[in-house]
Amino acid sequence: MSNDARLIDTHAHVAAAQFDADRAGVLARAAEAGVARIIEVGYDLESSRAALALAEAHPQIYAVVGIQPNHVHEAPEGWAGELHAMAAHPKVVGIGEIGMDYHWMAAPPELQERFFRDQLAIARDLGLPVVIHSREAQADTLRILAAAARGQPGIMHSFSGRWGYAQACLEIGFMLSFSGPLTFPKAADLHEAARLAPLEMLLTETDSPYLSPHPQRGKRNEPARVRLVAERLAALRGLPLDVVADQVWRNAERIFHKILPGG
Ligand SMILES: [Zn+2]
Repeated sequence: MSNDARLIDTHAHVAAAQFDADRAGVLARAAEAGVARIIEVGYDLESSRAALALAEAHPQIYAVVGIQPNHVHEAPEGWAGELHAMAAHPKVVGIGEIGMDYHWMAAPPELQERFFRDQLAIARDLGLPVVIHSREAQADTLRILAAAARGQPGIMHSFSGRWGYAQACLEIGFMLSFSGPLTFPKAADLHEAARLAPLEMLLTETDSPYLSPHPQRGKRNEPARVRLVAERLAALRGLPLDVVADQVWRNAERIFHKILPGG
């Protein structure tokens, strides 16, 4: 029964160079594992174009386009116009990944915040959900979202943090998307958040090629392994995999509303 679960990887970077040698095999393994949809996410204009090209080439892939905080300082003049134009494509289902990153601090916080707010506005303009990248920047991410994104549909990608932070994100109306670290035996904070949050607000992702789940931790990740994340989530909720997978599938269709049901 559980083998029939229909899974979705809501955040992957299959266009990454790490997959150049075997991309077709990676997509075939995902399909075999029941991963019937993949959301390919950009982090700058070039990777956003690549995400869209991948989505155009594969019916099961959709694209999210945006400029991630570690790349905002490299954005060319006119980036907003190009992003806007790309996002009008029928297979672009969201704006992301966007947000704040104080771990790498590749760009000054003020510049990160300006790009974050500008892209929240583009998403609002187009009626698209936002996919949020936040690393070691919980307070500022929450401050900006509360001020600029209340009522806007959004996802905390690769959610990491305690239950209190999860609650604050849920209060703003944002979904939590769990990735490989949910499967780590010692990730007690994540386990708690995954147990306590409403199931209608949860998603599963891989962030491939990063964040490979247990027991493949440290290896190159791929969308097929979203099954390990979904299995861990099901175990934490005390529910069968197919029940959790079905709800996550519906959650993804609800937030990524440009995905046509069955498409
Ligand atoms: Zn990512």
